[in-house]
Amino acid sequence: QIAIDVRHVTKVFGFGPDKVHALKDVSVAIRENEFFTLLGPSGCGKTTLLRLIAGFDFPTDGEILLHGQDIAPLPPYKRPVNTVFQSYALFPHLTVAQNIAFGLEMLGRPRAEIDARVSQMLTLVRMEELRNRSTAQISGGQQQRVALARALAPQPKVLLLDEPLSALDFKLRKEMQIELKRLQHETGITFIFVTHDQEEALTMSDRIAVMSAGNILQVGSPKDIYDRPAVRFVADFIGETNFLEAAMVSSTKDRASVRLGSGAVIDASVPKGFSPSGKVTVVIRPEHARLADDGGELSGRLANIVYFGTDTHFHVDLDGGGSFIVRQQNTRDESRRAQEGDKVSIVVGTGAAQVLRD
Ligand code: ADP
Ligand code: MG
Repeated sequence: QIAIDVRHVTKVFGFGPDKVHALKDVSVAIRENEFFTLLGPSGCGKTTLLRLIAGFDFPTDGEILLHGQDIAPLPPYKRPVNTVFQSYALFPHLTVAQNIAFGLEMLGRPRAEIDARVSQMLTLVRMEELRNRSTAQISGGQQQRVALARALAPQPKVLLLDEPLSALDFKLRKEMQIELKRLQHETGITFIFVTHDQEEALTMSDRIAVMSAGNILQVGSPKDIYDRPAVRFVADFIGETNFLEAAMVSSTKDRASVRLGSGAVIDASVPKGFSPSGKVTVVIRPEHARLADDGGELSGRLANIVYFGTDTHFHVDLDGGGSFIVRQQNTRDESRRAQEGDKVSIVVGTGAAQVLRD
């Protein structure tokens, strides 16, 4: 079931030489009851897309459907959509409970219903004891909870969250990530969450859309996006990775054999709908390869070893040029220690390699 269907949406700001193409023919279908994340660097168009869905602004071209219905004629307050902003935008002169009641009062709901709903929301975000506190006298994390409760109170079908955790410190952000997942799960509301933090996107989302310069480059589950990036930008933006030039040997619909610079032929997967030929680039995640004494598909010399506690990163200068990072989990096994300068072989795991579309 599709909740929000964004169809060929373009947004242009300004005129003439000052024109900014904030969104370029963007299409994406967001399902009911999913935690969907828009991920991309600052300026790529995330907020613009949320504002169009919320109705604070209009597309230059294209349409947005909610449960199959064009929402263009609906002003923001008539859309079953609510927004949580990075700045929270709470009313400082009102109490916690009054802030949460605000939207319901605007909708003219009966007093008894409002009171019941406010209590329910206070329980949901675990703020019962602070209901009569002024929002000027609560912490940043508590303000964040009130903002969430206020946005959820009118029972929107879709909740838009524009970098809601970016103002919180690291520990509180981690806590609120779990809290947000729980809220989405318990309410069953579709969440469209915006972040520029790839780790946050990977840990929280059912699906992720990776954006760059007004385009959606790839949509998929966190595992798809991480293991099977379709294009270089996605591979690069989501974590550390290795790029290798290779030549196509043969291919079927979604698999390929490619020859690496070392001469070794490995198996690789291919993005959907793409028919690679000639020279290609493959990506291999650092933890999908391992070091060996010999017998690997690649060989080189250990240039650098970086210890990270849970794992170690081995930077290898490849024979024949280029470099490669291998990430290995640390164990208590002290018997074998690689050292900088050692000659090493690199074994690429089965199914580790992915051919890029560009
Ligand atoms: P993000 O939220 O991903 O950081 P935005 O959607 O805010 O990106 O912005 C996308 C692009 O559109 C940027 O280049 C930004 O400067 C431009 N932009 C956004 N809003 C306006 C506006 N009201 N007028 C002109 N340009 C805008
Ligand atoms: Mg933004």
